[in-house]
Amino acid sequence: KLYNEVQDLKGNIRVYCRIRPFLRGQNKKQTTIEYIGENGEIVVANPSKQGKESHKLFKFNKVFGPTSTQEEVFLDTQPLIRSVLDGYNVCIFAYGQTGSGKTYTMSGPSIVSKEDWGVNYRALNDLFHISQSRKSAFIYEVGVQMVEIYNEQVRDLLSSDGSQKRYPSFTYFYLLFATKKYIKQILLHYCSNSIRNFISFNLHTLGILTSSQPNGLAVPDASMHPVKSTTDVLELMQIGQANRAVGATALNERSSRSHSVLTVHIRGTELETGAALRGSLHLVDLAGSERVDRSEVTGDRLREAQHINKSLSALGDVIFALAQKSAHVPYRNSKLTQVLQSSLGGQAKTLMFVQLNPDIDSYSETVSTLKFAERVS
Ligand code: ADP
Ligand code: MG
Repeated sequence: KLYNEVQDLKGNIRVYCRIRPFLRGQNKKQTTIEYIGENGEIVVANPSKQGKESHKLFKFNKVFGPTSTQEEVFLDTQPLIRSVLDGYNVCIFAYGQTGSGKTYTMSGPSIVSKEDWGVNYRALNDLFHISQSRKSAFIYEVGVQMVEIYNEQVRDLLSSDGSQKRYPSFTYFYLLFATKKYIKQILLHYCSNSIRNFISFNLHTLGILTSSQPNGLAVPDASMHPVKSTTDVLELMQIGQANRAVGATALNERSSRSHSVLTVHIRGTELETGAALRGSLHLVDLAGSERVDRSEVTGDRLREAQHINKSLSALGDVIFALAQKSAHVPYRNSKLTQVLQSSLGGQAKTLMFVQLNPDIDSYSETVSTLKFAERVS
C-alpha cells in the first residue's frame, strides 16, 4: 500500500540509503555522517571545511543508519517482492564503493544464521511462502539464473561447463561454513546436480522458462534452474559464488570489479481459469563504484576500471532517463543495462540501495555516491 502511494508520487524508482557501522578493529575516526532524518534526509560534513558550508543535505525515500538490522531493511523491501507474484518485474540494486556493505545488504555476512540473511535470501523465502499460501488458487513455477558481468562480458555462474573447477571451490566453501545439515546437502548436491542440469536442459528445449519469453525476460544463453524451495536457491547461490571466484586472484578482488545478477523468474497459473502471469526479480550486487586513479593503474586493471565506469554511468543514464520520463532510454550502452532492460522502465519497479562507508577517509567517495543517487531519485 505504502509503496504504491510513493510510486504514484515518484514513478517506479525508489532509493534507500544505508550506512554501514564502523567495523570492529576499525579506528573510530570521526564520521562524515552528521545527521540522519526520519524522512530520508541525510547530512554529510566535509572534514576539510568549517561551518555551514561544510554540510551537504541529500534526501531519499529512506535512510537506514548503522544500527539498522537486516530485518528492518527487508521490511521496507517486502512490498516490492510481493508484487513479483502479481506479475511485475522488479529490480533491486546495491550501489556504492567497495567495502560499503553492498554484499552485506544483498546477501548478508553469512547464510548460517537467518538473522544475517540479506535481501536476496529473504526475498526468495518470501516468494516461496506466499506461493505456498496461494496454493489452492495458483500454481507457481520458479526458475533462477545467475550471471556475472565482467569487462562487458556476461558469464553464466550456474552453467555446467567449468564444473571441474566448480567442485573444489564449492566443497571448500562448505567446509568453511558447513553444519551437519549442510554436509548432508553436499552429498545430495553431488547426486542431484546432473539430474538438475538434465531437467533444466529439457525445460530449455521445451521452451518453458526460456529466453524466448515475451519481453525477453530471461538472460539469453544463461542456464535456467527450476527451484522449489529456499534451500534449492541457497544451494545454487553457493555454487554461483564459488564459480565467481574461479580465475580470480582473490574472491574479494574479483567480486568488487564485476556485477553479479541473480534473476528469479516466476510463472503463476490460476487453477480456475488457466490464466498465466509472469513476474521477474533481478537482484544486483554492483561492482565497486570507487573511481580509480588513471595515473596509477595500467593494463588489465585500467580496462576493468573503464568497463565498470562505463556500465555504472550507463545504468545512471537509464534510470535518470526513466525518472525524467524521457522518450529515449539508452539501454544499449552497456551489457548491464541490456541484461536488466526488462526490469527497468515500463511497469517495472526499481529499488536502489545506496551504500555508504561512514569513515572520514571515504568522504569524497561518499559524496560522489550520494550525487549519483540524487540524480536518479
Ligand atoms: P561491499 O560488498 O560493498 O564491498 P561488504 O558487504 O563486503 O561491502 O562489507 C564490507 C564489510 O563491512 C564486511 O566485513 C561486512 O560484513 C561489513 N558490513 C557491511 N555492512 C554492515 C552492516 N550493516 N552491519 C555490520 N557489518 C557490515
Ligand atoms: Mg561485495
